[in-house]
Parts: sequence; C-alpha cells; structure tokens
Amino acid sequence: MKITILGSGTATPSLLRNSSGLFIETPDLKIIVDMGAGTLRRMCEAGIDYREIDVIALTHFHPDHVTDFISFLFASNYAHGPMRTSPFNVIGPTGLEQFYKKLIEIFGQWIVPSQNRLIMREVSATSPDRVKIEGVRIVSSPAAHSFPSVSYRIETGETALTISGDTDVSENLVKLAQDSHTLVCECSMPDTMKVSGHMTPSEAGAIAAQASASRLILTHFYPPCDSVDVVSVARTQFGGTIVKAQDLMTFTLS
Ligand SMILES: [Zn+2]
Ligand SMILES: [Zn+2]
Repeated sequence: MKITILGSGTATPSLLRNSSGLFIETPDLKIIVDMGAGTLRRMCEAGIDYREIDVIALTHFHPDHVTDFISFLFASNYAHGPMRTSPFNVIGPTGLEQFYKKLIEIFGQWIVPSQNRLIMREVSATSPDRVKIEGVRIVSSPAAHSFPSVSYRIETGETALTISGDTDVSENLVKLAQDSHTLVCECSMPDTMKVSGHMTPSEAGAIAAQASASRLILTHFYPPCDSVDVVSVARTQFGGTIVKAQDLMTFTLS
C-alpha cells in the first residue's frame, strides 16, 4: 500500500497546506479519503488521474473535507477527454445520501455521473461498520467531532492503515487503529490551544501508543501547529516513527 498526502491543512486557506485529502493505492484499488478544496489540483501535481479513482471515502461533511467532491462529480461528466466508464464508489457516514441529494438540488444533473457510475454506500455514524470492495476492507468507526463523522481503517491482506478524520480523543479510534502499520491522525492545534472536537500532538501521540501503531503521521494542521515542534511533543507519548505531514509527501506501508 502506498499513500500520498494531498492536503495536510484545514479550513485556513494556505499555499503550504491544502484542505484535507489523502490518496491511497492498494494492489486492487485507488482510494481518496476526503476531498477538501484543492484536492483535485494536488492530485494533478502528484500525477494521479481522477478517472482512476475507485473509491472516495468521506469522513464527514465539513467543507474543508468535501468541496472538491463537487468538482470531481462535475469533472466525471464534463472534463475534456475520455471519461471513466466503469463505476466508482462513494462512502460516507449516515447522511451521505441526503448530502448528495441536496447537492443535486443546488447543482442539478450536471453533477450526476452518467450511466449510473456512482455507487453510494453509507456507513453508520453511531457504531462500527464496514464495506468490502475488491480485496480491500474499509472499516469505519464513529469519531468524536462536532459533526457526525467517522474514522476509517483500510486493510489489505498485508497491512492496515487508519485515518482519524476530524476527531477528539476517542476510545473508538484506539480500537480502530489497533496494530495499524500507520495511523494518519489529525493534530489541529498545539497542546496549549486545545479545541474541543480536535486533537493536540500529545493526544495524537497517546492514541498511537495505545493503539500500538508502528508509525504516526500527524496532519490537519491549523497554522499555530507550524510554530511548534509537534513531533517532539507527540514523541513524549509515542515511541514509534512520527512524521509531520507536508502536502505531496508519499509513504509506503509494508
Ligand atoms: Zn477538518
Ligand atoms: Zn470537521
């Protein structure tokens, strides 16, 4: 499995840090988790063709996680050049179908992929759930956020990756991330500026330690996190590998 950070930022506009987005490539599937504004452009920079995406998994419907989903849908019908003809999957917590319906009320049929190519799968926002596509298991678990939200664990036969999405400290996340090779964990604010519904570096470190993950990738940084050594702070809690995400970084899980 290989992953590319498409957006390590948040709602704050930034040249350095795009809103949330993560690309995951397994032997069977190409997956995007969250599509904040600019995700499609970052995909172009990373050489990822939007037509090859098999699964879009949305953690929740805050704009910094979903606005490029609209552009993706529009591109799936009206971008120049050959279109993808095979179906693709969209996964999200309860409310996904309602969210999509509302988007269609606003944008009309322009954003409805032709030939029924979109397969929608809601997962529970209140209890653990799972979806299996090809050889990949996508397990979800409710997150502790200000909006119905889930974290995802992506498992192939060989390895497991957990993505926290937006969440406060949560026992659910510890369970979901258990023995993951890599935990991509939100780290919105420094320890001194803790915000409810989000995590700090020491909290992210503690989650990675409790989950016995091998590697912790910190992401979802509001600007104050770039004035602090978040890795050293997380290190006080977690002895494994810790990386501070930057857009377009790539990692291999094995
Ligand atoms: Zn967010
Ligand atoms: Zn959020």
